[in-house]
Amino acid sequence: MKLPQLEDLPDVAGKRVLVRCDFNVPLAGGHIEDDLRIRSALPTLEWLTGRGAQVTACTHLGRPKGKPDPSTDVAPVRARLKELAPDVALMDNLRWDAGEEANDPAFVDRLVAGQDCYVDDAFGSAHRAHASIVGPPARLPSAAGRLLAREVEVLSGLLNDAKRPFVAVLGGSKVSDKLGVIQALLDKVDALVIGGGMCFTFLAAEGQRTGDSLLEADQVDACRRLLALGKRIVLPSDLTLLGPDNQVRQGGTSVPDGWKGLDIGPGSAAEFSDVITDARTVLWNGPMGVFEDPRFAAGTRTVAEAVAACRGFTVVGGGDSAAAVAQFGLDKEIDFVSTGGGASLEFIEQGDLPGLRALRESVNA
Ligand code: ADP
Ligand code: MG
Repeated sequence: MKLPQLEDLPDVAGKRVLVRCDFNVPLAGGHIEDDLRIRSALPTLEWLTGRGAQVTACTHLGRPKGKPDPSTDVAPVRARLKELAPDVALMDNLRWDAGEEANDPAFVDRLVAGQDCYVDDAFGSAHRAHASIVGPPARLPSAAGRLLAREVEVLSGLLNDAKRPFVAVLGGSKVSDKLGVIQALLDKVDALVIGGGMCFTFLAAEGQRTGDSLLEADQVDACRRLLALGKRIVLPSDLTLLGPDNQVRQGGTSVPDGWKGLDIGPGSAAEFSDVITDARTVLWNGPMGVFEDPRFAAGTRTVAEAVAACRGFTVVGGGDSAAAVAQFGLDKEIDFVSTGGGASLEFIEQGDLPGLRALRESVNA
């Protein structure tokens, strides 16, 4: 898993360096709502400019369909980058060219034209075999940026030598998105705690009624097989429910028709917290309920507080989970907040990513 590092590049003084960043920031009406992804790239950008490199950054932003589209213009990112790293230029949105997602060699040629080295600091995109991720390392001396290297170091550490007890807490909306991750984690962890919308498919597999809660009927058998493995899977013992007339009440895990479980209940939150408190390593991905609505945020908040207070090594991955932790003001209490949702899950599931393979196989590696 050894990736080429910045120090492994040929001397960058006076050289042109292309840096793939993940500046896919949340935008509202052309205004950047959270510039964390830009600030996170600064250690790499400053390492390069500080050694006299001429740096050009590139990123995707949103989901344009392979052609220029004003709603995904990187101009606001370029303006913020100008304030934070004045000497770094930023190319146009990579996905304005259909060659990016198609991994078109001609587009790779245009990207690397005039560049001497390539640095990949876009961990959040490392699971995509797109042109700007896998193309340049086959053509230029290449290295992992600081952010990408740290992400890989933390996640590899979790998979290979986590201190025990190792507890994973999973939530979020869809079990089908995370089934592979659940399976991979069950081999590694001492306990797997499951809340959020995905718990209902597990509760259904245990024969519980799920009412109108989120349920993926075609995944019930898969969840039943996971439960039968005999590993420690902790499911909610109570729920916060929303009723047919919009009334909210606490309930058990058998949900009546017309009612939806939108958060774990206070008993479950306390039980989950106890499991987390005893852990020496915690990985948390996916909120415990619809935390965007204050009526269903308590479970996620209690779990976030337990992770924050845990004295073991704590990692939060997933865009919505990271947003929840930040919303509760607890992000500073977490040892590592992953910037890459999909990428971190795929890394846990597969143990490797296309972008990392490309760096390991780069021309200078
Ligand atoms: P992450 O981005 O952290 O990986 P996901 O994208 O998988 O998380 O899921 C986040 C979404 O799951 C949130 O928008 C939240 O409202 C939703 N969610 C959590 N619990 C439930 C639930 N019980 N029913 C429906 N949606 C839920
Ligand atoms: Mg999400």
